[in-house]
Amino acid sequence: MPALLSSHLRRHASAYCALLVGLAVTGVAALYVQRGIDERRNRRFDEAVREGTLGLQQRMDMYQAMLLGTRGLFSSSQQVERDEFHAYVESLELPRRYPGIQGIGFSQWLRPGELEAHEAEVGAEGLPDYHVWPEGERAEYTAIVFLEPLDARNRRAIGFDMFSEPTRQEAMRRAMETALPAASGKVRLVQEDEADTRAQAGFLIYVPVYNGTQPTTPEDRRAHLRGFVYAPFRMGDLVEGLRFPGFQGTVDLEIHDGAETGPEALLFTSRQEGPWEEGARLGLYREVPLSVAGRRWTLVFAARESFIERNSQLQLGTVLISGLLVTLLLFLMTRAQVNARAAAEAASAEQQRLASEARTAVRVRDEFLGVAAHELRTPLTSLKLQLQLLYRQLRQPGPLDAERVERGVESCERQTTRLSQLVDSLLDVSRLMHGRMELRLEALELGEVTRELVRRFETDAQSAGVRLTVDAPLPVQGRWDRLRLEQVLTNLVSNALKYGQGAPVDVRVRGDGSAAFLEVRDQGIGIAREDAERIFDRFERAVSSRHYGGLGLGLFITRQLVEALGGSIAVVSLPGQGSTFTVRLPVTGPGEEAEGTAPASEPPRAPLH
Ligand code: ADP
Repeated sequence: MPALLSSHLRRHASAYCALLVGLAVTGVAALYVQRGIDERRNRRFDEAVREGTLGLQQRMDMYQAMLLGTRGLFSSSQQVERDEFHAYVESLELPRRYPGIQGIGFSQWLRPGELEAHEAEVGAEGLPDYHVWPEGERAEYTAIVFLEPLDARNRRAIGFDMFSEPTRQEAMRRAMETALPAASGKVRLVQEDEADTRAQAGFLIYVPVYNGTQPTTPEDRRAHLRGFVYAPFRMGDLVEGLRFPGFQGTVDLEIHDGAETGPEALLFTSRQEGPWEEGARLGLYREVPLSVAGRRWTLVFAARESFIERNSQLQLGTVLISGLLVTLLLFLMTRAQVNARAAAEAASAEQQRLASEARTAVRVRDEFLGVAAHELRTPLTSLKLQLQLLYRQLRQPGPLDAERVERGVESCERQTTRLSQLVDSLLDVSRLMHGRMELRLEALELGEVTRELVRRFETDAQSAGVRLTVDAPLPVQGRWDRLRLEQVLTNLVSNALKYGQGAPVDVRVRGDGSAAFLEVRDQGIGIAREDAERIFDRFERAVSSRHYGGLGLGLFITRQLVEALGGSIAVVSLPGQGSTFTVRLPVTGPGEEAEGTAPASEPPRAPLH
């Protein structure tokens, strides 16, 4: 199996190479496209982060600038009237220009002892219920005096002492001491309904207002503090108006107060559900610090799954699929080419083999024609001589020598018999090669057939001085074709006489119940081991044609006949020690399938050589 596999791989190496190269190119192209997609996605995300951060920064700067402007109102006059402040804030068009801001207010700084007078003063301005809250003794107080627009929400905050609440206090102190805008930490605005579950996180920005010229030291600032211009912010409303690519759609934003991110510090989130996993998995997650009025915020940007463009996925899929298809096509084409080449090579090898076979056949035929011509010429020459002799005798004056004429005619007859035998054997071979034999099976006794046939050779044997015997002690019955048997016997006995060197020839017949054995033994020239098999083939001879005439067809015909009768033939021989040919024939005749139905041929009656 491994050998098969390795030969397959070797043969299709170029196809597999094409496959590998195609896959590699597809892989590289897909990587390249994927990288382009990733880069584009990262760029888009970075842009969203940049614009989001910048947008928020600008917005917060704008609010601070606006608050600083409002401080100007207070710095320029000792006393700002409620109406004046109302008109000023209205002119700012807060809802339209400053989304997210809840209002602008002024919180007055009250030193101990000023509280009562303050409450009375403000009450007299048309706010009879005015009081500073929460109640209680404190070292310092602040009180929201103005808060515009004075809607129901903001009205709730009037009088509130923001300094009493630690988160607000921290920012107020920072503002007071630094003289700069200061943002508070996360608070719940007093404007929010206590019961409102949708209450937003909030924060405030304070801008300090001082009496007189701008004090320079923290102590000075504290001593000259008049109050704070401030603005409360609802975080959700503030971020709502923020615009940057993907926001509220494919990119989420969270804003945390401080450097840590956690639910406690969460000011705003656009995240609807679940953690940031998708964005983090794609590497599309950024934490960006932002400084807002002296406070650090942490902005978290993360992409949603919908951020991934469908088009890009489609593009990658198209590259992959078309790459794979082209690779497959390339592979199949190369393989087809390899197969076609292999088939062409095989065809050419087969052609060469056929050509060589044809050349051999032509050579064998030419050789055979040479031998056949020689074989035919021998009896023809002798026939011609005899006829010339006869003709001369007939033309001779005087009485005819009848005995000589008779001998001449006899000789002529022998030569013509010989000629017709040669022609018969040639015809036989042709029939055997092209048609199937028809057998005429009948119950026969092999000993009797053998004795009868051998008798026909007695004259020849006697004249050659050869002792020819038949040994068939017991009858051997079987179903055979008499003429074919005679032909087999004729060929074997005539060969034994021909190659027997005048030594005795013995023919034996035996049977073992299922098969009959016919044995023809001579003590002649014998056969070399390497020739024992091939002499049964067509035109094959193991002797020189100079010493022995013959066409090399007798044994070929014999084997064909024996096999047609379902039997087999073999020879045992050694050079110079004679040969024994043994024929084995089943007594039942050939199997059903061996019984031919082809055109009947005239069975040969004479030795076939
Ligand atoms: P042919 O006798 O015409 O040559 P055969 O087919 O009868 O053709 O025999 C083939 C060859 O087998 C002969 O040429 C000869 O070399 C060898 N052969 C056949 N019979 C004998 C035998 N009895 N003794 C030795 N050689 C034989």
